[in-house]
Amino acid sequence: MAYDVVVIGSGPGGYVAAIRAAQLGFKTAIIERESLGGICLNWGCIPTKALLKTAQVVEYIKHAESYGIEASGKPKFDAIIKRSRGVADKMSKGVQFLMRKNKIDVINGFGKLVAKGKIDVTGSDNKKQTVEAKHIILATGARSRELPNLKIDGKKVTRGNEVEVRGLPEGAVFSRDGRYLYVGNYIDRDITILRVEGDELVNTGKSLQLPAHPASMRGPAQ
Ligand SMILES: Cc1cc2nc3c(=O)[nH]c(=O)nc-3n(C[C@H](O)[C@H](O)[C@H](O)COP(=O)(O)OP(=O)(O)OC[C@H]3O[C@@H](n4cnc5c(N)ncnc54)[C@H](O)[C@@H]3O)c2cc1C
Repeated sequence: MAYDVVVIGSGPGGYVAAIRAAQLGFKTAIIERESLGGICLNWGCIPTKALLKTAQVVEYIKHAESYGIEASGKPKFDAIIKRSRGVADKMSKGVQFLMRKNKIDVINGFGKLVAKGKIDVTGSDNKKQTVEAKHIILATGARSRELPNLKIDGKKVTRGNEVEVRGLPEGAVFSRDGRYLYVGNYIDRDITILRVEGDELVNTGKSLQLPAHPASMRGPAQ
């Protein structure tokens, strides 16, 4: 199949570029190996905001008495994650709708640039197809770096999205993201945040500076 524009990667970089290309009259396709919307909609900005919203609700419940309301609330982790995944799925379906609306072909699979204007796409069923394009936009995003002596084994050392799949374990250790510390604080999970400084992993403990309120963090609260 031949297109004017093919975008590889459907994160916020890719899907917006594809929409604009289509709006400008180019015959456009987007290639995605996982879910439409990329990291931001599926594992990053959106589901973490949904978790923050839960933390905010728990915070309100903890202070309900001072508002003259009698309330008790025990966080149910499975339900919290289910809600977060639901919000992410809804957003991904929103991108699917936008692709349809703008007549952009969605090609599911791993895209590999093989020659000028030629991309081989391998689907999850291992079927291959070649897509041709006058213009190709690479919007494949970035991935976190593996630490040299701390290989990601999918069990003890995992990527951030495992939190959304398997839950936030007691005693979890995170690099960088204060949001999980905030959520952990409110659902009674003990979490440590590490920071990479040069070649060292530094334990920030709970002294990490947290915003006073989740709403002050970047992005929309869900
Ligand atoms: C936990 C977390 C929280 C975050 N919170 C925020 C926030 O609050 N605000 C904010 O602004 N940013 C946030 N970010 C960062 C944000 O997610 C990224 O900046 C954004 O997703 C980058 O968009 P992108 O389109 O460049 O790439 P991505 O979103 O990474 O999308 C790239 C897409 O390309 C696909 N892809 C890659 N290679 C191929 C290939 N060869 N073939 C087919 N498909 C391919 C991937 O599957 C992916 O879907 C957060 C990130 C994380 C991890």
